[in-house]
Amino acid sequence: MSFIEDARWFTATPAPGATGMPATPGRVTLVGAGPGDPELLTLRAVKALRGARLVLYDHLVGKEVLRYVAEDADLIYVGKESSHHTLPQESIIDLMVRLARSGRNLVRLKGGDGFIFGRGGEEALALAEAGISFDVVPGITAAQGAGACAGIPLTHRDHAATLVFATGHLRGDNEVALDWEALARPHQTVVIYMGMGTLPVICDQLMRHGLPASMPAALVEQASLPGQRCITGTLQDLPQLAQQHRVRPPALIVVGEVVALQPRLMRGMQATVM
Ligand code: SAH
Repeated sequence: MSFIEDARWFTATPAPGATGMPATPGRVTLVGAGPGDPELLTLRAVKALRGARLVLYDHLVGKEVLRYVAEDADLIYVGKESSHHTLPQESIIDLMVRLARSGRNLVRLKGGDGFIFGRGGEEALALAEAGISFDVVPGITAAQGAGACAGIPLTHRDHAATLVFATGHLRGDNEVALDWEALARPHQTVVIYMGMGTLPVICDQLMRHGLPASMPAALVEQASLPGQRCITGTLQDLPQLAQQHRVRPPALIVVGEVVALQPRLMRGMQATVM
C-alpha cells in the first residue's frame, strides 16, 4: 500500500484536457468508515475498500480500517482536524473530480457516516454537478457508536422521545449557531459533534434555555476505539470534568436523562465480556 502524505502532489497532475481526456471517467464510492473499530464497518464498505485502487481518507478514519485496503493501492491522506486542515474542502473536491475525470475509480473514505457532519453532501453534489457517477455507502455514525459502546441507550422510551444530532462547531463570528430553545426541550437526548472547543458555551446556553443544572450529561471520547472513555456528570460540572480528565477530540457531548442509565448498562456490558 503506498501512502501519499502530500496530497498537493496529486493536485499538481495536469488538468484534464491538457493531456487528453479518457473516454470513461472513473467512479467514486463515498464510504462511511464508522466510528473507528473496524468491526463496525459494513460489509459493503469492506468490499469497496478491498476492491479499491485509490483511497482518499480523513483523519478520523480508524487506522485499523485502512488494513482492508489492498497492498498495492494508493492511499491519500486529505486531513482534516479542525485547526489543521491538510487540504481545504474545495481542493478535496477538486482533487476527486480531477482523479475521476482522469479515469481513476476511487474510494472517498470518511469517519462515521459521510452524510452526518462529514461534508459528504457537498462532495456528492459536486460530483453530480461534474457528471461523475458515484455510490454512497453508509457508516455507523459516532453517536450510534458512542451509545452502543459506552452504554447510553439514546432513545430509552422512559426518558427520550426525540434524538437530536447537532454540531458545536463555531461560525466565523465565534458564535455557536444553534437553536438553543429547541435543544433545551424536555424528554430529548442531544448529541453534539465537534463540541469540545465550545463545551462551556454549550452547557451554559442549555441551562439558560431551561435545562436543569442537574441534567445528566456525558463526554464520550474515542468511541469504539481501544482508548474509549466515557465521563459522566451534569450540565453544571461537565466543563470542569472535561478539564480534569483532559478529554480530547474526537469526543461527543451527550445530554439527556438517558445518560443516567450509563453506569448500570456499563456494569452489565462489562459483565458479559468477562
Ligand atoms: N461523519 C462523522 C462525524 C464527523 S464530525 C460521523 O458520522 O461520526 C467530527 C466529530 O465527530 C468529532 O469532533 C467528534 O465529535 C465526533 N466523532 C467522530 N468519531 C468519534 C469517536 N470515535 N468518538 C467520539 N466522537 C467521535
